[in-house]
Amino acid sequence: MMEDCLFCKMVAGDIPCNKVYEDKSVLAFRDIDPKAPTHVLVIPKKHIESINVLKDEEKALMGEVLMAGQKIARDEGIDASGFRTVFNTNAHGGQTVFHIHMHLLGGRQMTWPPG
Ligand code: 5GP
Ligand code: ZN
Repeated sequence: MMEDCLFCKMVAGDIPCNKVYEDKSVLAFRDIDPKAPTHVLVIPKKHIESINVLKDEEKALMGEVLMAGQKIARDEGIDASGFRTVFNTNAHGGQTVFHIHMHLLGGRQMTWPPG
């Protein structure tokens, strides 16, 4: 656990979150400022800052993040209608929390290109 990391504090249970999924290596919870009817953040419990510093040995873990997203999309009933998954990285990506997370957004039509 990284001190002063908001998402690590959620993993530790020190800060409450609206949990939608948890297993031994992944936690998912609703975004506090949702940008779509479904807006869930899926994170590895392990502190990793961003895609920039992902290591080879974390490939399987990130696969678990994706598979959790698949299950959550199904549970939220947005698998067939569709959804968007986003990893923001650093300034141009719009990253504000430096614990890697996958945004899972659905329940409305998304547009392309993203803003
Ligand atoms: P980023 O901007 O880094 O891609 O995404 C961070 C996300 O975390 C934002 O969508 C923001 O709304 C969400 N967020 C920030 N603080 C909290 C919080 O305390 N609780 C929850 N559930 N989400 C948060
Ligand atoms: Zn963290």
